[in-house]
Amino acid sequence: MRGPASLRDPWKYQRDYWPTLPVDIADIDPDLNGYTQWRRDRPPRVVLSDSLDDIGQRVTLTHELFHLECGQPDRWHRDRGEKLVRLLTARWLLPDLDLVKRALAMSVSIEDAAERLWVTLDVLVERLRHLTPNEAHLVHSPQARAFSHGHGGVVLYGLKSHQA
Ligand SMILES: [Zn+2]
Repeated sequence: MRGPASLRDPWKYQRDYWPTLPVDIADIDPDLNGYTQWRRDRPPRVVLSDSLDDIGQRVTLTHELFHLECGQPDRWHRDRGEKLVRLLTARWLLPDLDLVKRALAMSVSIEDAAERLWVTLDVLVERLRHLTPNEAHLVHSPQARAFSHGHGGVVLYGLKSHQA
């Protein structure tokens, strides 16, 4: 387990549900955090950048595992698949909005809140941008409101993690 024990751990998920999946940590294109390599005659493989810290690895591995769950996209649906994977990643990593609310209340900035929640800023913003009306009710903070009303667009697409 890496990070606080109460948080969801994609490494455990990988061991439980994708036990034979190769996950390699390598020196890759600096524009990428990681990618899933779909291979013709062998099972897919996930590659994570060796420049990621523990939080970056947690987020990127989760993202790539959702690519695997969704299956290999055809080229016509790649953008839509990417959006869905980002959303699923944010929801999976931040299932507890009470925790999100408390982190926002304790933090001096949204970056600080993301770190407390053991996610990247992009993931927290993605989660807050896509609250359901019921969820929005649960997260009353100026930061959450600002982002759920669409002022977070600059950083929304900052997660540099793409398919190979
Ligand atoms: Zn992706």
